[in-house]
Amino acid sequence: MSHSDQLFARAAEHIPGGVNSPVRAFAGVGGTPRFIRSAQGAWITDEDGQRYIDYVGSWGPMILGHQHPNVIAALQDQLTRGVSFGAPTAGEIEMAELVCELLPAMDSVRMVNSGTEATMTALRLARGITGRDAIVKFAGCYHGHADSLLVNAGSGALTLGVPSSPGVPADLAQHTLTLDYNDSAAVEALFAERGQDIAAIIVEPVAGNMNCVLPQPGFLQTLRKVCDDSGALLIFDEVMTGFRVALGGAQAHFGITPDLTTLGKIIGGGLPVGALGGKRDYMNALAPVGSVYQAGTLSGNPLAMQAGLATLHYLREHQPHAALAATTQRLVEGIAAAAEKTGLNCPAVNVGGMFGVYPGHVSAPTNLDEVKRGDVALYQRFFHAMLDRGVYLAPSAFEAGFVSLAHTDADIDATLAAAAESFMAIQA
Ligand code: PLP
Repeated sequence: MSHSDQLFARAAEHIPGGVNSPVRAFAGVGGTPRFIRSAQGAWITDEDGQRYIDYVGSWGPMILGHQHPNVIAALQDQLTRGVSFGAPTAGEIEMAELVCELLPAMDSVRMVNSGTEATMTALRLARGITGRDAIVKFAGCYHGHADSLLVNAGSGALTLGVPSSPGVPADLAQHTLTLDYNDSAAVEALFAERGQDIAAIIVEPVAGNMNCVLPQPGFLQTLRKVCDDSGALLIFDEVMTGFRVALGGAQAHFGITPDLTTLGKIIGGGLPVGALGGKRDYMNALAPVGSVYQAGTLSGNPLAMQAGLATLHYLREHQPHAALAATTQRLVEGIAAAAEKTGLNCPAVNVGGMFGVYPGHVSAPTNLDEVKRGDVALYQRFFHAMLDRGVYLAPSAFEAGFVSLAHTDADIDATLAAAAESFMAIQA
């Protein structure tokens, strides 16, 4: 029995399912999750001493790689001064100034502790500002686990929101309208009928929680237009894409200005954090200026601010996104080519350092229905074949992958060699 096996059994005694976030349990791929002891650069090491090239990167935050010296130094410095005060700090101002500089759609930002809090607050704000209750989301987009957002009305035709988790009141879920990602015609039809009831559209501008699905040309523009015409707010959930697909996030990459933006992951440099921001008029509706309430004991936590600032400063100074995109493209094209050599189709996509691979699909999916039509069992076999060869991919066919600045050419070569062997093995 491996140490990970033992730890997983022990964890299950006092932690539901043995994990503190469901996807970590390997339920999507089978087998025992690897318990990670340490990480350095692009590599993670498990409790059995096995090393893996890491394409999860803590689900996105670790864009500089693990244990980046600037982040560690910033944390060490803060540790000598205190870890939490519950009072304002200069670091929070520095963070707000930097974020507003990097994302010009914002001139005011509120720090919170997770992406979930950011999107939950953004919705409350949009509802408070517009005085409307309905919100629009897209099937397969994940915006954290706030009640209004844990709703998937099913893909295809619009239906009224149905809770997708027990515990979400139907009375609340009915205000969440779900459409198919990339279905501009459905968006227009819904707004023609109910535009005046809708407080906001919330969207992942590149969807990263149903594997990786790109917005089709015109889709994000349609969202902008229907919001302009109806007075609904457009919320870009950039918890994953922010500072990853471009320094200025997906809004810079695609040239669309949202009304509100939610952030998380990279902005905390690996510590728990989230943020929401937008134009001052909107943000001033939040307490203590306005009456939309939001608060947090640990919000703007000094350690999280310093880890995030070190990360963002590095990105601003080094402008690495073009190189990161090129590395990621080499990775996904190499994986697709390795699959083809064994007669298997494996469409692959990337935007900046975020990617999706689809073993067995005919073409890259454009919505959740198409993602689901894939061969999940094949992904599971590919995942384990790669894991056996020292490559740690997302333990689910429905998650995006992430490349960091610490992934070297040699790491990519080693991954592609592992992919070639893995495709051979699973085809055999
Ligand atoms: N929004 C998006 C796009 C996400 O990918 C996630 C988490 O993966 C969240 C929100 C929720 O963030 P958190 O897990 O920090 O609550």
